[in-house]
Amino acid sequence: MTECLFCRIVRKEIPSTAVFSSTRSYAFRDLNPQAPTHVLVVPRLHITNADTVMAEHADDLADLFITAQAVAREEGLVEEGRDPAAQGGYRLVLNVGEISGNTVPHLHLHVLGGRRLRWPPG
Ligand code: AMP
Ligand code: ZN
Repeated sequence: MTECLFCRIVRKEIPSTAVFSSTRSYAFRDLNPQAPTHVLVVPRLHITNADTVMAEHADDLADLFITAQAVAREEGLVEEGRDPAAQGGYRLVLNVGEISGNTVPHLHLHVLGGRRLRWPPG
């Protein structure tokens, strides 16, 4: 998987703007932000997309979501100790396949926030 763009970003072969890092995940700013906060959280392990996730990835996925929680707090999307349902919040997106606009075949969680997000998405 040496040619995978996000594997190369994880290995620091391609520069990125780091937001948060853990043993299993890496969070960095999207190059083409769609909201004031647009961060990508990727597992350090290469997993192609949400449709190829397996039970053995459980620890990587838990860490992915915990990293997204940390990103949301670091970016001020959720006040510490406050229920995101009460105020603030953010959107997590996993695109799967061409129809969704998925372009990079390495699992990545989009963390979007900092503005009101419309629903349904386009
Ligand atoms: P997706 O459409 O879900 O596959 O999202 C891929 C995302 O990766 C897009 O939002 C791109 O803007 C972003 N992206 C592509 N290349 C880079 C890069 N080198 N650094 C940061 N973000 C990138
Ligand atoms: Zn990869």
